[in-house]
Amino acid sequence: MAIKFRKYFIDLKRHLFLRIDETPGNCPYCSRRFLADDLYCSRCGEKKPEERRNRFVIDAVFDFFSEITHLDNKFALTLMWLFFRPGLVTRAHFLGVKSKVLKSITILALSLTFFYQFFPNVTLFHTGFNEMATAFQRKSWTTSNVFRFNIAKAAEKKSLAINKSVEEVIVATETRAQYAANIFLWILLPVWAFTIRGALKDVRPYYIDHIIFAASLFGTYLLFWLLITLVIFGLKIDTSISPVATLWITLGFAVFTILSVKNAFLVDWSKAMLKGSAVAISLFILVVLFRQLITIISFEMVRS
Ligand SMILES: [Zn+2]
Repeated sequence: MAIKFRKYFIDLKRHLFLRIDETPGNCPYCSRRFLADDLYCSRCGEKKPEERRNRFVIDAVFDFFSEITHLDNKFALTLMWLFFRPGLVTRAHFLGVKSKVLKSITILALSLTFFYQFFPNVTLFHTGFNEMATAFQRKSWTTSNVFRFNIAKAAEKKSLAINKSVEEVIVATETRAQYAANIFLWILLPVWAFTIRGALKDVRPYYIDHIIFAASLFGTYLLFWLLITLVIFGLKIDTSISPVATLWITLGFAVFTILSVKNAFLVDWSKAMLKGSAVAISLFILVVLFRQLITIISFEMVRS
């Protein structure tokens, strides 16, 4: 651990005060002499510079596009694998591959950032006040209010008790809930990872592996959800989704989870189906409980 930190600060100093080596045939970054058939520096990985010549501006523009869409770069490769080869990114993490794929925590942070960029006010990780109140009025059982909490009535009571309008109570609840959801999301994940551990510790015993799997899968779900919302529902997140669409989306996520478990943990099909379903269902239950607890507790915390 201490050695790791030491190396980090040595690197920091080296990069900060780097002097580019101008000697032809040397690596400009670390001064190692290139061999005739080297494409990259064998010490630091820098590309062997091509001879500079006059170029068309259009070449530079194309270079820019290929740099940001380069299929070999970490970002593009990770996205392609996340969407089309479920579980493979996690497998690469398990095997210690570092230079080709983004870390799972980076995947999660990026997908959260994308999400809040597009939908800053979305009630993704907490139940909206109105959603909960409407769900209570409905007679049939619903996942929007599993605790059967009569939040509308409670809000009226509270508004009298603390001498504020019901509107103000609702706004205060929503603000608190949004804030709390973003923080406690980082607790939800390790808890889910713990249930993944319960299903798959015979295959991989280390808890850190289950957290890595949970973070990449959760990040991928978010990216998928973002795409679905953007493409199919035309940016209108508040419109209620039809039950048939919900069923298809839920099924899709379940199948994706099963494939991810199969490819990341290298288990056979029957095991993948059983454990993948358990992993998907446990997340569903956790998210449902989490979203509502966040709202209820935030509501209870509202004081004058
Ligand atoms: Zn070098």
